[in-house]
Amino acid sequence: MTCQITAPVRPGQDVRLDAPSIRPARRAGAGLDGLAVRDVDRDERLAAMRAGELGSVHSWELVTAVDGPGTRLTVFLSGCPLRCLYCHNPDTMKMKDGEPVTADELLARVRRYLGVFSATGGGLTLSGGEVLMQPAFAARILRGAKEMGVHTTLDTSGFLGANATDAMLEDTDLVLLDVKSGVPDTYRKVTGRDLEPTLAFGRRIAERGADGHGPEVWIRFVLVPGLTDDAENVERVAEYAASLNEIHAGTVSRVEVLPFHQMGRDKWHAAGLEYALDDVEPPTPELVDEVRARFRAHGLTTY
Ligand code: SF4
Repeated sequence: MTCQITAPVRPGQDVRLDAPSIRPARRAGAGLDGLAVRDVDRDERLAAMRAGELGSVHSWELVTAVDGPGTRLTVFLSGCPLRCLYCHNPDTMKMKDGEPVTADELLARVRRYLGVFSATGGGLTLSGGEVLMQPAFAARILRGAKEMGVHTTLDTSGFLGANATDAMLEDTDLVLLDVKSGVPDTYRKVTGRDLEPTLAFGRRIAERGADGHGPEVWIRFVLVPGLTDDAENVERVAEYAASLNEIHAGTVSRVEVLPFHQMGRDKWHAAGLEYALDDVEPPTPELVDEVRARFRAHGLTTY
């Protein structure tokens, strides 16, 4: 997910991967220098992608205090079945626009940051786009990271939660579950898709927790004035988050209410895409506080 959090940067921009700079949160794109595999035959490439040996990757970056605990290597996979009106990075929506990167190479890069992860309590975050568009690749990366003892986070809308195998969830310490609306009609308006698969994925995780298998969940909710700020919509998301803790106490350890911003607007225009939120202002601090209080009223730790 690239929901109003971080701004991955295409290859060649900003910081080189070989010399990453760790900055406090919310930017620091690192591109893909040194990772892209360009010269493989198309059929071989498709077979390798099906096997999870090769992935389509948009970019990656080092971030602190977002996308999970500590300093994290966040990898943005390409391809997403949703079409969120507020998508921060519409250039991650199409898988074909990503760069082919091998699992081995990516895991070698993860290994480079073991010291950083250890010193900060950080780890690896797979984001997108939608990670579960490439489940075999994601599973291989998560498994490899766990074999190195790295904390792993899966950032997802949950819409393709059925693609996540139990083994993949076993290798995932934290799921950032983006619940874009609690009302099906609003969810469809925001994303173009159905809400239920997301809800079902969260319930499945909570049920795993009840069986002693986790992972932990942080719920993310983007607050967009005039689109998702309706009181009933907010209440439904809060009720849903609380219901996961009723299935298994402690499943949802955090809720993040993310104020809408316009940092993605230029990308929509640059891509020639119709952007529906041109005239929408970010929510006021008072509205953000009010919505956070609604979540806290359900006993949820909310930021
Ligand atoms: S379109 Fe996909 S990548 Fe963009 S915000 Fe929605 S779920 Fe995230």
